[in-house]
Amino acid sequence: MRFDVITLFPELFVPFLGSGVTRRAYSGGQVAVHLWNLRDFADGNYRRVDDRPFGGGPGMVMMAEPLAQCLAAVRAERAEVAPAPAVLFSPIGRRLDHPAVAAWADSSGAVLVCGRYEGIDQRFIDLHIDRQISLGDFVLSGGEIAAMALLDAVARLQPGVLNDQGSHQLDSFNPVLDGLLDCPHYTRPDHWGPPGAERPVPDVLMSGHHKQIEQWRRAQRLALTARHRPDLLVAARAAGRLTPDEDRWVGGLAAADPQDNDAL
Ligand code: SAM
Repeated sequence: MRFDVITLFPELFVPFLGSGVTRRAYSGGQVAVHLWNLRDFADGNYRRVDDRPFGGGPGMVMMAEPLAQCLAAVRAERAEVAPAPAVLFSPIGRRLDHPAVAAWADSSGAVLVCGRYEGIDQRFIDLHIDRQISLGDFVLSGGEIAAMALLDAVARLQPGVLNDQGSHQLDSFNPVLDGLLDCPHYTRPDHWGPPGAERPVPDVLMSGHHKQIEQWRRAQRLALTARHRPDLLVAARAAGRLTPDEDRWVGGLAAADPQDNDAL
């Protein structure tokens, strides 16, 4: 799988690609990442990549021509029979989620275009961009953080990248866990907190009883999902992933505990 990233700030990716468990995916070529500095494709002494917006208004707009030149160079190097999709990170795009990440993790890659300034000349988008991806309903200064989010999420789904094989399947949103949120985690010491008010780890986790531990984790996932992301629970129910007992139990929980994420 190969991702080509078109950016004005390739240096932002260097520490990212060399850190954490996912670096194995990048250095080993499982997820090959090629960085392209857009400025290398700009003309003139100043290597200008942006200009004022027609019609006036604040900020600058990325010019179409350097982007087109850069994309042509990427395409020439990739030399593909079926060109990889060109993806623009943009608030307009479809919001990134687990199913989309899983599809990219199974793909042959893409050309990722990172916008800056007020955005990109629409004519380049109309002519060359196949898909747009948003990280959420907020505005970033550039597409680089969104590109890193996608590359990170894709890399950790590759076989052998995480230390524990298959551990990503136990993460939130994974179909293996019916698309629910992850359960709480605890580690040593078994009592921790302010002196005199130390909190214990739930007894069941210290019991060594694997079946009961798994039942506890399932109940925690259901309860957390009901409380924080009822939409995911609705989807799991609609897909027939809850047993009748779980369905009844979760229904009672939701009525009894209205706490939610509204505060943050
Ligand atoms: N004027 C644009 C708007 O209001 O939609 C915002 C431009 S933003 C300052 C510069 C670049 O950051 C965008 O071209 C895009 O590539 C990236 N960007 C900003 N917010 C994003 C988001 N939520 N998801 C993905 N990329 C984003």
